[in-house]
Amino acid sequence: MENISPLKAVMEIWKVKRGKPEDVLSRQQSRLADLINFARSNSQYYAQKYSELPERITSLQQIPPVTKSELMDHFNDWVTDPEITIEGVKEFVSNMSLVGYLYLGRYMVSTTSGSTGVPGIFIQDKDSDTIMKTLMAIRGTTKLKWSDILKVAAKGGRNAAVCSTAGHFTAFSTAERLRLKRPSNGKIRAFSIQSPLSTLVKELNEYQPALIGGYATAMEILAEEQKAGRLNIQPVAILLGGEKLYPNVREKLGSVFQARVLDLYGGTEATAMTFECEEGQFHVNTDWIIFEPVDEYYQPVPPGKQSHSVLITNLANRIQPLIRYELTDRVIMSPESCKCGRPFPVVQVEGRTDDILKFSTNGQIVHILPLALKTIVEEIPGVRCFQLIQTAPDQLTVRLEVDEGNLRDQVWENVREALLDYFATQGLTNLLIEKSDELPQRNPKSGKYQHVWVDYHE
Ligand SMILES: [Zn+2]
Repeated sequence: MENISPLKAVMEIWKVKRGKPEDVLSRQQSRLADLINFARSNSQYYAQKYSELPERITSLQQIPPVTKSELMDHFNDWVTDPEITIEGVKEFVSNMSLVGYLYLGRYMVSTTSGSTGVPGIFIQDKDSDTIMKTLMAIRGTTKLKWSDILKVAAKGGRNAAVCSTAGHFTAFSTAERLRLKRPSNGKIRAFSIQSPLSTLVKELNEYQPALIGGYATAMEILAEEQKAGRLNIQPVAILLGGEKLYPNVREKLGSVFQARVLDLYGGTEATAMTFECEEGQFHVNTDWIIFEPVDEYYQPVPPGKQSHSVLITNLANRIQPLIRYELTDRVIMSPESCKCGRPFPVVQVEGRTDDILKFSTNGQIVHILPLALKTIVEEIPGVRCFQLIQTAPDQLTVRLEVDEGNLRDQVWENVREALLDYFATQGLTNLLIEKSDELPQRNPKSGKYQHVWVDYHE
């Protein structure tokens, strides 16, 4: 799989789209064998972790799972290019003027707190980027018809990425990278969810995107703006990802914008993990991603039953091998194949979701997007985990855990200031922000880790 050309990736991904499940499986298995060999010889971390395993691994279940915190703790031994160091990568991502540029001139870098609360830094090499992009372009657009594509072109082909601009996040850095490739054509632009809503609306009205991508919570608020007549855009399609899309929100977006709604379940670790078909089902791209729903002891969970988490193996990326890597998503594999007839299994995701917060100022309600807040806090040096809880109409409580060696009080002060600054840009200057004595924790009932929620009754 060395130096896959974009054309080769297209041919390969296209061919399998209508193939048989056995074809998909045989591709997966040969890629897996290559990846394991590669990781053993090029990643000190995996070499050591697998040292007791037989030379020829015959079943995935022989391989111990890995977690984000474990990999992040062994970052320099994990990566397969010795020029990459955690120190260097951290310096790169702390510089916001480098969003959209390549680290060491050749690697895409994205940061995430993901769904476990532990921050992660993920690196992709060129081949992986080519494959993920091609999967998105070919399979991720399955629901678009040719007439939609013509309409997109007729409307000028502009693509708006409504995303968090507070750090090197996948959506933002991807949009910036494409923009920087052809700075003058204006076909793609990132719009900040940290902007005051009126600014975001004004900018989108000026830009008139043919395609708009973003988080479901952000698009839901924009739909309200469109309904109220302040926003006036006519996108052909809305591309969603990163948050659970509820059927009522999907319906609302489709009817308010008169646009096709496409959803994607993926993550920073594997952007094109699934695609949505005409039947509205998520199919796992199992030729490039191995997807194993497991229980709390990492034992396989059969189709039809809800998992505790999922182990993924990304067969496209060698620079930072992810082999049986735990994603804390709860999923159910469908026991039946999809009506569309594609050879890829169908998954339902319980999904991660944070609440939209509502604060009031001078009799006006201000909606605050969970992602806007979340990404501001996770970019503050020293923050390990956090949770933001609205505990009253004008109050936000912060649970905070800091990295070892950092002064808790200083990190807290920085968090508080960043939040106050952000709220001030939204016209909210009278909020009380207080620190909780509790550390961040999973919801004891659902076991889910939520970052932002409302915990009071109006
Ligand atoms: Zn289908």
